[in-house]
Amino acid sequence: MPYTNKVVIITGGSKGIGEGCVRVFVSAGARVVFCARTEADGNALVAEVNALGPGEAHFIRCDVSRTGEIRNLIDTALARYGQLDCLINNAGWHPPHLPIDDFSVNEFRDLLDLNLVSIFAACKFALPHLRRTRGNIINLSSLVGSMGQLHATTYVATKGAITAFTKSLAIDEAEHGVRVNSVSPGNIYTPLWQEAIDAASDPEACRTQGEDAQLLGRMGTIEEVGKLCLFLASEATFTTGVDHIISGGAELGYGPKSRRQ
Ligand code: NAD
Repeated sequence: MPYTNKVVIITGGSKGIGEGCVRVFVSAGARVVFCARTEADGNALVAEVNALGPGEAHFIRCDVSRTGEIRNLIDTALARYGQLDCLINNAGWHPPHLPIDDFSVNEFRDLLDLNLVSIFAACKFALPHLRRTRGNIINLSSLVGSMGQLHATTYVATKGAITAFTKSLAIDEAEHGVRVNSVSPGNIYTPLWQEAIDAASDPEACRTQGEDAQLLGRMGTIEEVGKLCLFLASEATFTTGVDHIISGGAELGYGPKSRRQ
């Protein structure tokens, strides 16, 4: 088992990409502590993955927009397992697509708190423990953080900042033996993507468009992202400060882009 008895904290692990990470790390033998804002989904996933093993999962309720709750998440994981080997900062949200005119300044501030400041806080509180194990951090950024996206200025700004923050933290933490990387998914089929499909005027067309955006002709799965994170945590020991795109080739080549009227 590639990650037996290693201790991993995953934010936002009750569904989507975070759930994929919980499943993959437990199957690799890790002891996983994950959080979300509501207990029901988290506890159901704990029961399911603990029955499969060989690792185990433990759920803690935590809203990552609240700094005190992030500190409690880290402290509780340490009290339970006595060490920390990997922190995966996954929790985040993509608001509905709107032009800049329709986002308020306060909405942008709230999104910065949720998507970016939460990662700064989790890294800050986890690092004293990660330095002891020469562990690693994986931050979920996004492909659109480097290529932009229509009507998503606030989200794209938070993700571009995560990629930049990751590189800077990797420089600082190298002297402590802590590696810091980011993962930038393209279209991964998750409840967040289903939200976008449900909100579209033509849901089927929206799903097909999402699938056709990749050279590989489909969206990625949550397990595929989990496996990349496991590789970064357990095998990629000479890799730090790198943004890892997992996109099915979505960013390659020319496509129809003009929106001229
Ligand atoms: P999702 O909405 O399907 O799941 C998000 C998870 O985060 C859930 O477990 C949710 O409970 C949790 N969460 C949300 N807000 C939280 C909060 N305030 N406190 C604690 N937990 C919270 O989302 P997803 O699609 O799995 O996305 C996960 C990450 O990957 C996000 O950071 C997202 O920006 C990024 N991402 C996703 C895609 C994609 O195509 N799905 C693409 C690029 C980047």
